[in-house]
Amino acid sequence: MGWHQVPLGSTLQRELNLPVLVENNVNALAIAERLYGVGRLHENFLVVTIGTGIGAGMMVDGVVLRGWGGGAGEIGHIPIESDGPLCTCGNHGCLESIIGEAALVRVARERGIIGEQSGISALRVAADSGNAEATRIFSEAGHLLGRTLAGIVHTLDPEIVIVLGEGTAAWKHWSFGFEPAFRSSLIPSRRGVAVAVETWQDESWAQGAAALVLATPFDAEDMAGDQGRLVRERLVEQASPQPGPHS
Ligand SMILES: [Zn+2]
Repeated sequence: MGWHQVPLGSTLQRELNLPVLVENNVNALAIAERLYGVGRLHENFLVVTIGTGIGAGMMVDGVVLRGWGGGAGEIGHIPIESDGPLCTCGNHGCLESIIGEAALVRVARERGIIGEQSGISALRVAADSGNAEATRIFSEAGHLLGRTLAGIVHTLDPEIVIVLGEGTAAWKHWSFGFEPAFRSSLIPSRRGVAVAVETWQDESWAQGAAALVLATPFDAEDMAGDQGRLVRERLVEQASPQPGPHS
């Protein structure tokens, strides 16, 4: 949204008079996966989102890896090309500036595959109908994603990689470039790592946010701090029967 240094949590808390947890959207998805998805069976997994941005949530031994300031997993800003396109972060040639939705649309317009006013859905429709230039844009993006994710698999050693996000609607075209690039870039002992691509609905972001709240009773490391305590108190309060319209 182009917001910087906005004290979102404290502002919302004041306006709503509710405890507020603030988390990176992909980390929230990883927590939802841990509670309800593939992550129920795995303590070490990687959630990767493709779409407007490229992001990762990294579950390591059952805990989201947040880093020093909560900024871990910003794989969209891995530097790829030193003189590449301008990225939203201000740098040039980040992964996201090459394979994010805006980049794919820009290239498709430049190559005349879609009209100047058309967007990613028009590009997907073109690819679905067999336009070779359109499918090539997705498979080239998949190739670069595959090589980059191989590096992250080598760094974190997850049991499984879960691909999510609005971009997965075109995954069959991405996978054309992704699979060979990913497998051939992995060292032999990691080459069999599983990749799951899940059907995406935009509600998934909201489910991630809800999972963040529902995970607080299990927040043994107290990552949610004081707000986590307030959430837990509220969950207990709501669980006990009380008179009124909500009982
Ligand atoms: Zn960037």
